[in-house]
Amino acid sequence: MKRKVIEKLESIVGSDWVVVEEDQMQDYLIDETPEPVRPKPNPDVVVVKPEGVQEISEILKLANQESVPVVPRGGGTGLCGAAIPTKPSIILSLERLDDIIEIDRDNFTITCEAGVTLEKLLEELEETDDLFFPPHPGDEGAQVGGLVIENAGGARAVKYGVIRNFVKGLEIVLPTGEAMELGGKIIKNNTGLDLLDLVIGSEGILGIVTKVTFRLYPTPKERVSLVVPYGDRHSAVDTVPDMLREGLTPLSIEYMEEDLIERACEHLGEKWPVKTRGSAYLYIIVTGNDEEEAFSQCEKIGNICQEHGALDVVIADRRREQEKILNIRSNIYTALKPDSVDILDVTVPPAEIGKLMDEIEKIGEKYETYIPAYGHVADGNVHPHIMKEDGKTPPYMESMKEEIYSKTKELGGVITGEHGIGKTRIKNLPQAVGSKYIDLMKKIRKVFDPNNILNPGTVVEDD
Ligand SMILES: Cc1cc2nc3c(=O)[nH]c(=O)nc-3n(C[C@H](O)[C@H](O)[C@H](O)COP(=O)(O)OP(=O)(O)OC[C@H]3O[C@@H](n4cnc5c(N)ncnc54)[C@H](O)[C@@H]3O)c2cc1C
Repeated sequence: MKRKVIEKLESIVGSDWVVVEEDQMQDYLIDETPEPVRPKPNPDVVVVKPEGVQEISEILKLANQESVPVVPRGGGTGLCGAAIPTKPSIILSLERLDDIIEIDRDNFTITCEAGVTLEKLLEELEETDDLFFPPHPGDEGAQVGGLVIENAGGARAVKYGVIRNFVKGLEIVLPTGEAMELGGKIIKNNTGLDLLDLVIGSEGILGIVTKVTFRLYPTPKERVSLVVPYGDRHSAVDTVPDMLREGLTPLSIEYMEEDLIERACEHLGEKWPVKTRGSAYLYIIVTGNDEEEAFSQCEKIGNICQEHGALDVVIADRRREQEKILNIRSNIYTALKPDSVDILDVTVPPAEIGKLMDEIEKIGEKYETYIPAYGHVADGNVHPHIMKEDGKTPPYMESMKEEIYSKTKELGGVITGEHGIGKTRIKNLPQAVGSKYIDLMKKIRKVFDPNNILNPGTVVEDD
């Protein structure tokens, strides 16, 4: 990085907050994308840690003057390489913007700086006892800015929706350095084109989020988990639409298969607490305002599951048992990751999920490989893992991926439901959306960022 740029950055934020030492910046060069598909970082970078909007604005103005790209950095938990600098860049870390500014009990909102982690936000709300932030994407190290900018989903979207449904207001700094506010604590807003919604999910190319106001809900007083084993996949997934049609909307409905549960248990050194074994499982979390409401829902859900051939309906109401099951589910990803070359995020209309999983299995058989898949079944969103072969990336990886994407599209789906395009899926974008869509995205980007400063090579190719 040019000495002049480093010196100017030091004059903006102070030399303590500029990192140039190679050994201290390694963590900023990667994210959680599986290593075989993770973009190669460009080592010619400088990490800068501003304390607020004014400094961020000055950094972006400097970047435009000096034509140096800026890559915003949140918690680094992304799964599509979006936060990895592939050009000589300024990595702008939001980690010092970590204050919770306000909990507004009457308007049901929480406002915090962008670098607050999901973990910190949840801990703060737990202290209130009666205010609840429902979304829970799997890694609590993610920052709220990163959650907004990736429009993260997670297991609890069934009842409350994805992060987009919670963002009421944002403060952003545009790529050209001007700060602006979008939205607020309002419920209704028809004031022109919705730029707030455009920025949500923009993967760090339209602006840097510095402050977020999220909507909150009252904390449900009761939470119960159900584990429902089935003898086959279709009996399990076909239960879900019937359940939803009855007006039963659990907090989450996850789908898992026996071998993946085994693998996660082995990884954790845990024992699966459910005696009745099946080949496929629904893992359902129900919430209610009191015990009676929660258990009455469980009973109705249990009956519908049994009508669909469930082998058992196991209710876990003790906190330790619930946490154990949740931990095993969450660790399917961790258990598979060392042997994975890529983690896909395909999403179809919910009723097509069984067909999609069958197609994925057939594609695996064609390539004589196993494609483990699990995920958020009620959202039509599964995560098939492409596995290593003899410890290496298999030669058919790209063609197999294209076939999975093609089947997903045929079923009315999309190639990513929650993880984003980032840098790893950019090559698949033409297959997903077509040239006019890409052209419009490029033009929108140009309006926000005429010098292509912010996170180049992300979402859309640079011209
Ligand atoms: C174990 C595990 C489980 C996960 N589970 C889920 C899940 O269930 N659902 C889901 O949707 N995702 C999941 N993820 C993915 C990840 O947690 C989300 O994508 C999350 O939103 C990333 O946030 P982050 O702060 O880590 O962002 P980063 O990885 O740091 O960055 C992601 C992108 O956002 C940009 N960015 C970050 N902060 C800002 C900001 N303030 N302003 C502008 N741009 C910014 C970066 O430049 C980059 O383009 C999981 C990841 C892991 C490792």
